[in-house]
Amino acid sequence: MSTMTYIGLGSNLGDSQQILREAVQKLGGLGQVKVSKLYQSPPMGPQDQPPYHNAVVQLCTDLEPLQLLDELQRFEYEAGRVRLRRWGERTLDLDLLLYAEKNIINERLTVPHVGILERDFVVIPLLDLDPELCVKGQSLKNLELQQHSTLTVLADTNWANI
Ligand code: ATP
Ligand code: MG
Ligand code: MG
Repeated sequence: MSTMTYIGLGSNLGDSQQILREAVQKLGGLGQVKVSKLYQSPPMGPQDQPPYHNAVVQLCTDLEPLQLLDELQRFEYEAGRVRLRRWGERTLDLDLLLYAEKNIINERLTVPHVGILERDFVVIPLLDLDPELCVKGQSLKNLELQQHSTLTVLADTNWANI
């Protein structure tokens, strides 16, 4: 039986839109996908790095959480990701935001993703996909951070050509 999951996508090195488009194609190989709009956001952490392209993908998959994380990390590696510094620039970041309603804490994986409720570049695209979504008992549409969003819309949901 397949599970509904949400994956956060980010990129601020290389041709970010193309890199995210390829990531969506690869995620499509793991199950049925739906994509949010494409956004630009200021960097989190070090400020001397380019702005990010961000989006969220809803993926229905048969993979178990750690198998899914393996695939996400493989896609990051294939996109040429190199770890330079914490929250630093990268060609591709794929974070497992939600795995159905499951709470997971182990040495490789924390789900719901840490910071999910504090990051507008995650909350706003999640709301594109499900305006009624609740995380940790909190309705995303009622979160304050929506009122002072730092995001710019770069493209509507057709940006990934799927
Ligand atoms: P943040 O997680 O705060 O967004 P980041 O995405 O830059 O930061 P990474 O360098 O991509 O962090 O990942 C560091 C480690 O986080 C990975 O090795 C992975 O095992 C772990 N991790 C824990 N929970 C998750 C999750 N829900 N999704 C992806 N990676 C996770
Ligand atoms: Mg991240
Ligand atoms: Mg990550």
